[in-house]
Amino acid sequence: MNARLISLMNALNLSDLWIGTLGTIISYTIIVVILLLTLLVSFRLLVNRRKIGYLSMMLSLVILIAQYGQLIQFQLYPTPNETAVFIALILKASAFLLVNIGIFQLYNPTKAKDGIIIGVICGIMALVAATYWYIPGSFEGSPEQIKQLQPLGLELFMFVIIFVSFMLVNPRIGQNGKFQLMLTLYFCSHMIYMTNKYLFNGTQGVLTKLEQLFPMAFHIVLFLFIFERIIEMMQAIYNSSIRDGLTGLYNRKFYYNRVNQHLAQHIKVSVIFSDIDNFKKLNDTKGHHMGDQVLKQVAQIAKEVAEPDGICGRYGGEEIVVMVIGDKDETSEIAEKIRARVEAETIVTVSVGFSCYSKGIGADELIKQADEAMYKAKTTGKNKVIAYA
Ligand code: GH3
Ligand code: MG
Ligand code: MG
Repeated sequence: MNARLISLMNALNLSDLWIGTLGTIISYTIIVVILLLTLLVSFRLLVNRRKIGYLSMMLSLVILIAQYGQLIQFQLYPTPNETAVFIALILKASAFLLVNIGIFQLYNPTKAKDGIIIGVICGIMALVAATYWYIPGSFEGSPEQIKQLQPLGLELFMFVIIFVSFMLVNPRIGQNGKFQLMLTLYFCSHMIYMTNKYLFNGTQGVLTKLEQLFPMAFHIVLFLFIFERIIEMMQAIYNSSIRDGLTGLYNRKFYYNRVNQHLAQHIKVSVIFSDIDNFKKLNDTKGHHMGDQVLKQVAQIAKEVAEPDGICGRYGGEEIVVMVIGDKDETSEIAEKIRARVEAETIVTVSVGFSCYSKGIGADELIKQADEAMYKAKTTGKNKVIAYA
């Protein structure tokens, strides 16, 4: 075991867990654990979704873990050489850049334009990184001063990345509240690091501790961000399993189940069954795309009239069903409202039938009755509402 670590362990005080070398190592270890968890979640997502964003995210997490591994090493073997400091800096900057790219890609397909912007930023970063090794001949300072100034270019460039992320990534992703919090935490963390280093020569214990706590908070929020993305995806998958892709209405299975549930609880529901008139002709004369648009309009009208109390579903091709809670008069009123609005607001009309709850009735029967009533409306002139009798 490392001799320095053993001597640290031997003279252990409770406060050492919080401050000093051991406290720092503990802080960094906690960050590494958080990073490993985030990496695990990203890996699961990458396997399932094969999205480039998760790959960028994983790459950044691996780099971050390497970065913190190196920071722990610096604690165990202080006075790192020039190259090690340079590598630490490159790891820090590129990991942060990649986190931002990954988050952007989680919500956006990477277009050529975005690729160019990313390329330009990487190119500028490489140039800035080169300044680490280039000390102007005219600069007259002690080796200590030179050593301090070498990383300044990249350290300042971090502010540019934060700013660019605020401007370009933040407006184009979901959960941007959380993302803003992340950027703010990173900004504070970097400010504290710079203040402690350049104003206090790294002597302020409080600032040193904050330098460790802020990244910890940043990585916790990053973890929550990715976790939230999983929940969003699960929600989207569930939604697409119960909704129709074209109209956004519930699909037949979900609608049927809801009617069933209500009837099982003896809730007095009615079913309204509507079918667009002469829809085939519209498709034939104006094209399928136009047909789709009209179908969406009719669905939207049904939704506006019946929701939030009612439930709208797409039962078949151009058949829209509504379940409402109410008696015959209330149902008739809603059905008539849908018919009238479709006639007034679209280029088609609908024939509508409805049937109301009766004791012991099942969903199949209730929907069939409403369909029968609709058929009667079709055969007696269309564009009308008929109650099942
Ligand atoms: P009716 O007044 O008797 O209801 O006549 P109709 O032409 O509406 O009835 P029919 O059942 O003969 O035709 C329904 C048509 O609806 C057939 C199909 O091409 C069209 N259709 C079904 N689903 C869609 C869809 O998602 N989009 C479009 N554009 N058309 C659809
Ligand atoms: Mg029809
Ligand atoms: Mg039909």
